[in-house]
Amino acid sequence: MSPVLVTGGSGYLGTQLIAALLRAGHPVRATVRSLDVEGDVRRAVRRGDVDDSGLEVVAAALTADEGWAAAVAGCEEVHHTASPMIQTHDPDELIVPSRDGTLRVLRAARDAGARRVVLTSSFVAVGYTPKPGNDYTEADWTDPDTPGLAPYPRSKTIAERAAWDFVEREGGDTELVAVNPTSILGPALTAQARSSLQLIKAMLDGTMPALPRQRFGVADVRDVADLHIRAMASPQAAGKRFLALADGPTITYLEMAQILHDALGPLAERVPTEQAPGPEPRQLIIHNDRAKQELGWRPRPTETTIVETAESLRDLGLLERQ
Ligand code: NAP
Repeated sequence: MSPVLVTGGSGYLGTQLIAALLRAGHPVRATVRSLDVEGDVRRAVRRGDVDDSGLEVVAAALTADEGWAAAVAGCEEVHHTASPMIQTHDPDELIVPSRDGTLRVLRAARDAGARRVVLTSSFVAVGYTPKPGNDYTEADWTDPDTPGLAPYPRSKTIAERAAWDFVEREGGDTELVAVNPTSILGPALTAQARSSLQLIKAMLDGTMPALPRQRFGVADVRDVADLHIRAMASPQAAGKRFLALADGPTITYLEMAQILHDALGPLAERVPTEQAPGPEPRQLIIHNDRAKQELGWRPRPTETTIVETAESLRDLGLLERQ
């Protein structure tokens, strides 16, 4: 059986995806920037109750050609989750690794004769250009030149566009599918509260002074991993994008805080109850019908994901005061 390649093997999503693939019986090869973190990746995967003996870890950075040909060699299936999620005012620190790294992975996949690449894009590449009704499907695209668009959504939009352009022009027989998750939450396997987990951690630690007036979608990290696997397996998925949103409407921070208070009692006692000043957030509708209808995807309810995120941060010892 040829190994399945997962880029971004150290990540919040990457570790859950590796665990899900191993659980399903696939040998996995994962890329990390430095082999120094191999032990951390293996420990994370074992936290997912799976044996890591089917996992191989190799080094490749999004910013260099070195390592990619060897990483993809012999792989028919590539899940490309790696992308920088750092806070920066320099857009190029996000755009360059995100776009050029995606093109490196696609080029290496094509040259190795890989059957399909499933790219983790984002809802930020779909719905960050406001439109009347704020109602989004996979047909929508964020305009990277939207005034005021932050560097991260710009980077994800540019990278996904570059991926589709590459596959159309020079992708050969390698197919592309994009998975576009809303904010990813749900249990972590990593020993740090990475990426979007910082937000729930700040709410539970009491370091978020007031609740931002924002509305957003939530997708469970385990369901996003499952969607990646379904998007790889389904012949009809080739050339398509799939939005990932939990079972339920988009929510506000106020609603999220209420869910935490109602379900978790003392664990949620520092979660703010007051909203920051400002106007009420606009309505936001995000459709996940395509993934459900075409891939049989069954995401968890939003409440389950939010509550299990908090429990996971507590169980991993990642909260300031427990
Ligand atoms: P994460 O934990 O920060 O994972 C990002 C992964 O990318 C890490 O493995 C990281 O490696 C790797 N990476 C970053 N820069 C790299 C570089 N220059 N070279 C090689 N690897 C690099 O975040 P995540 O939430 O799992 O994100 C996974 C994917 O989901 C990303 O594509 C992200 O844009 C997308 N996404 C996330 C969310 C969300 O709310 N979290 C929502 C929608 C889409 P290191 O460990 O070395 O930093």
